[in-house]
Amino acid sequence: MLTWLKKQKEQILSPILDWVQIEVTTHCNAECIYCPHTFAREDWLSAHFPLTLFHDLLPSLSHTNLVFLQGWGEPLLHPDIFEMVRLCKNQGKKVGFTTNGMLLNKKNIHTIVDLQVDILGVNFAGTTPSSHNRIRKGTDFNAVVAALEYLQRIKAERKIRKPAVHLAYIMLASNFDELSRITRLANKVGAEQVVASNLTLIQEPQLFQEPLFNNPQRLNEYSRTLVIIKKEAAANNILFAYRDPALNETSCVCPENVCQACVINVAGEVGPCVFTNPILSGSSGKAADKKVLTIFQGQPIPLETFSFGNIKNTSLTRIWGSKRYWEFRNLFDPETRLLPREILAGMPPSCQTCYKRMVSS
Ligand code: SF4
Repeated sequence: MLTWLKKQKEQILSPILDWVQIEVTTHCNAECIYCPHTFAREDWLSAHFPLTLFHDLLPSLSHTNLVFLQGWGEPLLHPDIFEMVRLCKNQGKKVGFTTNGMLLNKKNIHTIVDLQVDILGVNFAGTTPSSHNRIRKGTDFNAVVAALEYLQRIKAERKIRKPAVHLAYIMLASNFDELSRITRLANKVGAEQVVASNLTLIQEPQLFQEPLFNNPQRLNEYSRTLVIIKKEAAANNILFAYRDPALNETSCVCPENVCQACVINVAGEVGPCVFTNPILSGSSGKAADKKVLTIFQGQPIPLETFSFGNIKNTSLTRIWGSKRYWEFRNLFDPETRLLPREILAGMPPSCQTCYKRMVSS
C-alpha cells in the first residue's frame, strides 16, 4: 500500500520535461577517433542501465514527453533496449535513440518499426565510405546506408512514417567538404532531419585542428557553406540544424535545453548533459574514480563531472526540485535576472570550459 501511494505521489508530482535522456549503455562496438570511449578505453566503465532501475524511474517520467535512450554507447547493444522502448510506448511516450547503425539488421529494423519508435538518429562522419569509415572506425558507411534504405522500403510498404530518421553528422575540418552532399544522402536514406554538430570535446593533441572553430581562417567559408546547405535541405523538405562554429567565450547560452530536460547516466547520476558525467572506473573498478581529460585552450584539463543526485537513492522528482538544481537552471534560464558575469562565475567548472556553450550563440 505504501509503495503504491509513493508511486502515485511520484506520478503526480513528477516534473514537466520536454525530454529525459537515459544513458542505457556505455558499451560500444565502434572506436570513433574523437570519442572519449576510444581515448579512455582502458579506464572506461562499460555497463548497461539496469532494467529494474528503468522500471523504478518510470513513475517520475509521467509528465515527460520524450524519452531518448542515449549516452556514451551504442543503445542497440543493451539486451533489454526493446523492452525499455515497449515500457515507454505503453505509457504513451515518444521514444528515440541514436545508433551507429552497425546493428541495424533486418530483425532489429522490423522490431523498431513494430514498436513504433518515433525517432531513429543515425551517426555519420562523412558522405563517402573513406571519410566515414576512417573517422567512425568499426562502422561501415555502405552497410549503414543499405540498412537505412531497407528501413525506408519497409516504411513505404507499410505506408508508415515512423521512425523518423535523423542523421547526426559530426562536423570536422577533415570532413567538412563532404557535408555539401548531405542533402543527397538524406534523400537517399529517407531522412527528415540532419543535425550537424561541432566537435566540442577535444581529447588528443592530434585532433586539435579538427574542431571547425580551431580553423579561424576558414570560419567565413564554413558559415557561408552552412547557410547554403540549410537552404538546399529546406528545398528538399529536410530540416538542417547546426550552430555556427565561431567561438564566443562569454556566451551564457547552453544549447542543451537544460531548463526543460535532463540526462541520467548509466550509473543513475542526473545531470544537464552527457559532458558532465562520462563514467570511468579506474583501478578500483568503482565509478568516477578517474576523470576524462579534455584539451581546453591548448591545455589538457580534467573534465570535472557533476551530478545533482542519483536516482538509485533519490527520485528524479526530488532531484529536479532540489535547490542546487534550481540554482543551476537559473543560470541558463533565458529570463534570468542574473548579469552575464554572475552567470559565468556561477557555472560549474565543466560549463566554464565547455566549447559547446561557446558555439551556441
Ligand atoms: S554548458 Fe556545456 S557542460 Fe554545461 S550543461 Fe551546457 S553542454 Fe553541458
